[in-house]
Parts: sequence; structure tokens; C-alpha cells
Amino acid sequence: MTPRFALHIDGEDRASARDAWLPVFDPCTGAAWAEVAAADASDAEAAVAAAQRAAPAWAAQKPSERARWLERIADALEADAETFVALESRDTGKPLALCREIEIPRAVANLRFFAAAARTFGSEAHHGEAGLNLVLRPPLGVVATISPWNLPLYLFTWKLAPALAAGCAVVAKPSEVTPATATAFARLATRVGLPKGVLNVVHGEGAVVGEALVRHPAVKAVSFTGSTAVGRRIGALCGEQLKKVSLELGGKNATLAFEDIEPREAVGLVARAAFQNAGQICLCGSRLLVPRSRLDEWRNALRAELPSWTAGPPSDAVARIGPLASAVQATKVRAYLALAAEEGGAVLAQGRVLDSADPAGWWQAPAVVDGVGIGSRCATEEIFGPVLTLHAFDDEADALAMANATPYGLAATVLTNDLARAHRVAASLDVGLVWINTWMQRDLRVPFGGNRQSGVGREGGWEAMRFFTEPRTVCLAT
Ligand code: NAD
Repeated sequence: MTPRFALHIDGEDRASARDAWLPVFDPCTGAAWAEVAAADASDAEAAVAAAQRAAPAWAAQKPSERARWLERIADALEADAETFVALESRDTGKPLALCREIEIPRAVANLRFFAAAARTFGSEAHHGEAGLNLVLRPPLGVVATISPWNLPLYLFTWKLAPALAAGCAVVAKPSEVTPATATAFARLATRVGLPKGVLNVVHGEGAVVGEALVRHPAVKAVSFTGSTAVGRRIGALCGEQLKKVSLELGGKNATLAFEDIEPREAVGLVARAAFQNAGQICLCGSRLLVPRSRLDEWRNALRAELPSWTAGPPSDAVARIGPLASAVQATKVRAYLALAAEEGGAVLAQGRVLDSADPAGWWQAPAVVDGVGIGSRCATEEIFGPVLTLHAFDDEADALAMANATPYGLAATVLTNDLARAHRVAASLDVGLVWINTWMQRDLRVPFGGNRQSGVGREGGWEAMRFFTEPRTVCLAT
């Protein structure tokens, strides 16, 4: 029987009100393997109503009690991790190892981190200047979280954990492209006894049920991760209602490798930054900027590295990446590779798709494109696939100008052993996050988010706890 991923409202699985279902595709074969409930505004209404009923009692729990709930869910997720690894990999085509070693453990870590945050997040007091001022931070009430398909459970929990920790009741809308682990997670939370209605999951098309949530007057805030185009739309809808909104959007991140970096030694990190998860991470370094004096060495290093970047099924131990997540994504990435040729570029080096891959799947061999201009569409628009463009700079100022020459401002990686240069460059990059001699290392306490077209607001640590609460100042006469 075809698996079905239902909505989870008020502690129960249910079909959408109109009993509509969408196919869920296996990216490894291109064939439908499951169905997901297609909710509409009436289901959003039911989920928000359930959350409204649950919100007062949840907000009234002590922070340490809410922390215990998050820990119980984390324990249950950890105990059942292999089920989630298998489900995530089935839904996305990601290598099992990536799900097992990084993504599902990160979901557990998100829950544990925000359990600790619930316990330690404090109110403030200011005195000595004008009265005694208490800054209280009550939860907002009902909030919506909307997440994408590229890191399904990882980003789903990254949003709902701080919302629950802060005392909000949540209606979560995962991507309809990858609904499996969110559904299993909601059931697991109910199984461990999380009060009904505290966490509700609605599935379906973003423009239908996602927008219904964003528009709902009882939803006090929207935490969104996804594309810049949709972020703009959600931002506009929230603006009309003066609703709190956090937008984590696209990226076109640069990796800047300076003269003192040996291409052969650094190429592994550069390739991982470009191709992990088939390049479908907002933080991927998709533009490599290298000194003109070392351009040929970099070309050789990339030619030597790329053959080890193989795409194949999750069960193939040799596969380093899986397929692209959807037919839409595959078409988009191929269109950019065709555009690269029109823009004067050529593929310098390419990985390969393994023979074990079903030809009907949405495979894309990782590619390095040489010869496109820094202002070209291929070098300024988010491709969100395993495509790295290579560019040469003349000096530090040139490198910086190139790194900042896109509308996005999410992240950058600086490779140099010159500390002064590293900090000078980091200070001038117009991005929310700079890595020096590393990529994708994350301390969950730091603010996370992008500048310009990469978003509005920050997640992580206290930033997230502040987002899901509303400060109230109480001034006592002294
Ligand atoms: P998307 O914007 O198409 O969809 C994201 C989510 O929004 C999905 O759940 C979708 O159903 C929903 N949605 C779509 N239209 C909506 C609307 N009108 N109203 C409300 N909800 C709507 O993004 P995607 O293709 O799923 O994800 C890829 C994008 O996400 C890339 O651009 C990537 O850079 C970005 N991303 C950003 C970060 C970050 O932290 N900055 C992290 C991961 C992914």
C-alpha cells in the first residue's frame, strides 16, 4: 500500500478536510512512492484553533517543565533514530551516512539545545537610572513555522524547538516535497505525551495552506526558511498585518582562497562546501575565488578532486551525494549548466553518476564551471545544485568586491593562514556568517541568518528565544 503522510492536528493524524492528497516522489527513481495530505485554509483554521486551545496551558508550564518535554522528545527521537534516518533518506535520496551522522543527530541536538535554552533564558532587570525596570518575555501565543525540503527534519526542529521552549504553541508547515520525517516526528511527540495541540503539522502546497497560515490573524509570528521569492511574499503579507516575521532565504556564497593556501591541500574542503547534499544547502560555497597567480594550480587541483565526487543511491557506499530533490530542481540546475555555456563558460571538471543509479532518477554529476564572468547569471543567481563557478582575482580588494557582488549576503568562507587578512576580509564581507579555514561548523548559540536578499532577522541561541517572545517592560517607582 502507498504510504500516506497525514496532517497532525490536536494530537491526531487526519486527512485534509477535502481529503485531497499529493504524490511524494522518490528522487532516486522519479516515481511516486507516497502521498501527502493537501491541506487548505480550513485545515489551517483547524490547526490554529487546536494551537489556540493548547497555548495558555503550555505557556503556563514552568520553563523547566517545557524543557523536560523537549528532552523526552529528543530521547525518543534518538532511540528511534534509525527509523528517521531511513525515512529521511527515502524521501530525499540523501546518503544514509549523511542522515545518520549529521542530519538526524542535529535534529536531536536542536531539541536538547533549546531545552537548555528554556531553562536558562532569563528576564532582565535595569535599575539605578529611572525606577526598577523588569523586562519580562512572555511567549507570543500561536506561531507558524514554514520549512524547506533541503534539510527536512533538521530545519523543521530548528524552528519548532525554540518556539516550544519559549512557550508558544506551533503550527508547522514542512515542505510538501519531503513530508515524511515531519509526520513521523509529530506522531512521536504525541506518543511521548506532549499535550495535544501544542505541536500541529499541516502539509500541502505553500501558496494554499502556507499562505492561509501566514494570513491567519491568530498566528502571531511566522518563522520561514526557504527561497527569497517566497520570503518576499511572506514578508509582504506579514507587513500588511504588522506581524512578526523571520526570513532565512537563499544564498550565493563565496569561498575565497588566498595566495598562501595550497590548492591541493584545500580542494577537499572547497569541494565539500560546494557539493555536500548535492549543493542543496543554503550555505554551500558555490563560487570559488582564487588568486590569478594560482589559477592554473586550482584548475589542476579541481580536475584531480572531482572524480571522487560521485552521485548515487543512498545504499551505495561509494556515493558521496544523492540526487536532486525534485524534477523542478533537476530542470533548474540543468538549465543553469546550459546557460553557463551561453555565458562563455565551460565545464572544467566533473564528478560522475554511479552505474547503480536508476537512470530515471534526478541525478546530477557535480561540476566546476570555468570562464563565466563574476557578474553573469550563473555566478550571481542561486542555482542550489552541485555547480561551482571558478573566478580569478588580482588582489584582496578585488576578491572582496567579487565576493560581495551578488544580491545575497548569507555566508562566506575565507581560506588563509594570515590572521590579519582573515579578520580584515571577514569585517568587509557583507554576509551574516564568515568561516575562516572551515565550513559548516556551527555553535548553536550564535546568531544565524543573512544580510540583504538572504533574509531578515536571525535564528539561533537567544535570538530565537527572543523572536518567539514579546518583551514587556514593567517599571516600578523607586
Ligand atoms: P520554497 O520557498 O519554495 O518553500 C519553502 C516552504 O515554503 C515550503 O514549505 C513551501 O511549501 C512553503 N511555501 C511556498 N510558497 C508559500 C507561500 N506563498 N506562502 C507560505 N508558504 C509557502 O523553498 P524550497 O525550494 O523548499 O527551499 C529551497 C530554498 O530554501 C533555497 O532558496 C535555499 O537557499 C533556502 N534555504 C535557506 C536557508 C537559510 O537558513 N537561509 C536554509 C535552507 C534553505
